[in-house]
Amino acid sequence: MAGILVFVEQRKSEIRNASLQALSEAKRQGGAVSAVLPGSGIGEAAAGLGAWGADKIYVADDPNLDLYSSDGYAEVVVKAVEQAQPSAIFFAGTAMGRDLAPTVAARLGVGAIPDAVGLELDGETFSVRRPVYSGKATTTADTAGNTPQIISLRPNVFAAEESAGAGEVVALDGLSLSIRAVVKELLEAEGGELDVAEADVIVAGGRGIKGPENFALIKSLADALGGAVGASRAAVDAGWIEHSHQVGQTGKVVSPSLYVAAGISGAIQHLAGMSSSKVIVAINKDPDAPIFKIADYGIVGDLFDVIPPMVDAIKAL
Ligand SMILES: Cc1cc2nc3c(=O)[nH]c(=O)nc-3n(C[C@H](O)[C@H](O)[C@H](O)COP(=O)(O)OP(=O)(O)OC[C@H]3O[C@@H](n4cnc5c(N)ncnc54)[C@H](O)[C@@H]3O)c2cc1C
Repeated sequence: MAGILVFVEQRKSEIRNASLQALSEAKRQGGAVSAVLPGSGIGEAAAGLGAWGADKIYVADDPNLDLYSSDGYAEVVVKAVEQAQPSAIFFAGTAMGRDLAPTVAARLGVGAIPDAVGLELDGETFSVRRPVYSGKATTTADTAGNTPQIISLRPNVFAAEESAGAGEVVALDGLSLSIRAVVKELLEAEGGELDVAEADVIVAGGRGIKGPENFALIKSLADALGGAVGASRAAVDAGWIEHSHQVGQTGKVVSPSLYVAAGISGAIQHLAGMSSSKVIVAINKDPDAPIFKIADYGIVGDLFDVIPPMVDAIKAL
């Protein structure tokens, strides 16, 4: 095939894992792989992308691209498309990727398929497997008739793999960067907490934790496992924790290696955000809680009795 262009996302010059996964998956598909990286002061980050499978790296290094904007970043990707002439463009299905992929698709006059969890190449055309109906079913869509084919990949489903090689860095010139909505400032959550969308281990708490103070217990298990704290919507709606922690249909979609759900019943809207986790552990005192239907390991018990010895045992290991 003509090649895959991968949009690569960085934050403060640090490449996001989900983009490395998209890059690695592009490499595994066999053809030529190029990357496009917008940002400011990103020279070093760009040079490192060769080691993740990019043969060519299109870089737009400009202070106006320091923070994300749909207009600015879409212009950069479209410019890279003009140069690379790819047959497909991959985005990581992060918040940024979910905003940018359809924007770029609209500018190029093609369709976009979001949330891929499986990809198969048939000649020049991708067959894309993606969950639908809040994860209750899986559908396969194909990208026939679209050039380039635009696909976003669900984070943490595809493995990131280093591959030997030094990509050629190409500066993208001639950008007008007519950005209509300018992001002035990005305010980060206090304490530099790990984002659930990026985490490989998540411990999530629901209404069963009874109150905001008990997120400390959830956090103690998350810390022992080196993971992030997630939450159900019930916990978020009660004001116990910020929405940025919410997992589910109206929260974040995650696919960590390990997802521990404590005091969460397993409503379909919650499952929509976490059912593709590799190993699911549920702690719930109700043996009939729906979460046990999808859990790999279920602990029927009171989370206040179960979690403290778990933390001790993990620390002892
Ligand atoms: C349009 C829409 C979008 C939605 N989006 C989301 C979403 O993104 N994410 C989401 O999570 N929800 C979402 N919801 C809400 C969803 O339907 C559920 O209401 C919600 O997930 C329930 O949260 P919960 O499991 O924490 O609470 P509950 O359903 O009340 O479950 C609490 C669980 O804790 C257990 N429990 C209680 N005490 C203990 C204890 N001491 N030890 C162990 N277990 C205990 C109980 O047995 C129970 O199973 C959405 C709903 C709608 C309509």
